[in-house]
Amino acid sequence: MSTPVVEFRRVGLTYPGPPPVTALTPCDLAVAPGEYVTVTGPSGSGKSTFLNIAGLLDTPTTGRYLLDGIDTGPLRDGDRTALRGRRIGFVFQSFHLLAHRSAAENVALALLYTAARGRRAAAERRERAHEALVRVGLGHRADAVATRLSGGERQRVAIARALVGRPALLLCDEPTGNLDTATAQSVLALLDDLHAQGLTVLLITHDPQVAARGRRTVTIRDGVLREVGAP
Ligand code: ADP
Repeated sequence: MSTPVVEFRRVGLTYPGPPPVTALTPCDLAVAPGEYVTVTGPSGSGKSTFLNIAGLLDTPTTGRYLLDGIDTGPLRDGDRTALRGRRIGFVFQSFHLLAHRSAAENVALALLYTAARGRRAAAERRERAHEALVRVGLGHRADAVATRLSGGERQRVAIARALVGRPALLLCDEPTGNLDTATAQSVLALLDDLHAQGLTVLLITHDPQVAARGRRTVTIRDGVLREVGAP
């Protein structure tokens, strides 16, 4: 079997308090390359805690987390940040675009801190940004300023920005939370397409209908993670 993109080995997190709160009970989870996994649970169940650990934004208090085969436990802050930047593309509920920049500029900015400098590098960033926008169906809107884009288009730009660095994992946190139903469906259809092209997707949502889009679903309740359909 190929190396999992995400591998939790008895990963848990207890906030020290007082009183201590176990937000994530030690759990195992392996997400293989190319899987589309949704994580769902009600408010306060531990989804953000899970997302923060999976996204290398927080460290577990027990267990080991391997990202793309790399044991993240011993990493220093700078290495952890670099690993996050290279291997994970984030998509959030709010699109976090720079309002007065074009779609292409918003996407290209994601490459600014990873790619080389110089004129050739700038041209390459533009080219890759354009490719990423084509991939999300927005090639024709590359020059549009963010404020002129619809909510669905903004989320597509955010997805292009997440993809442009060619991450191993697309980590989505309530990606349709700010969208109307029809637009949400089109963004979910885009995630289906990206998954069909081989992308590994981990999507966190409180919405059971969105969760049902994953090929595999895990639930979190009171900090306990369970595979849906598992005995
Ligand atoms: P969700 O994202 O599903 O709403 P969270 O992961 O935010 O759930 O929270 C899980 C549990 O951990 C909740 O009981 C919450 O109150 C608690 N919690 C979250 N952050 C902290 C913190 N910094 N300190 C103490 N408890 C926390």
